[in-house]
Amino acid sequence: MKIDFRWLGIGTVVIIVLAYIGAIIGAITGSLAVSYLLIFLSYFAGGVIIGKKSPGKTIIEPGIASAIASLFPGISGLGIVISFLMGVAGGYIGERWQEAGTRAGAVQRASPQMQPAANTRFCPSCGKPMTYIPEYQANYCYNCQKYPEIEVSA
Ligand SMILES: [Zn+2]
Repeated sequence: MKIDFRWLGIGTVVIIVLAYIGAIIGAITGSLAVSYLLIFLSYFAGGVIIGKKSPGKTIIEPGIASAIASLFPGISGLGIVISFLMGVAGGYIGERWQEAGTRAGAVQRASPQMQPAANTRFCPSCGKPMTYIPEYQANYCYNCQKYPEIEVSA
């Protein structure tokens, strides 16, 4: 398995910042349980961000980044394993999200070629396809050399 150290580094920073925000919110609520919940959630959220933003497959990196980040609030033992799993789960969700976005982008790129055919109107006089002229906001027929729709309505 190849580890992308650049994204591991970025992930560690992102996740530590998120976990710090979580710890602050937890401290405001005064509940240690809320603090830990938010910290673990931040590992998951950080994993999603890394998985989504990084090119290619990055699932293990957010896990390692979360495990490193978990050392700072003093999480130990099983907590490190949970942190790792939260990061990996986030990374997996982020990857799936990235794939869905790539597919949607491919569909959008394909559609403009379809649109002109769907919008094409045909000349009421000769039946040939007309060309839309944006300046006149009307369809021009090159065959009849006129704007049939404007002349019909006038
Ligand atoms: Zn015509």
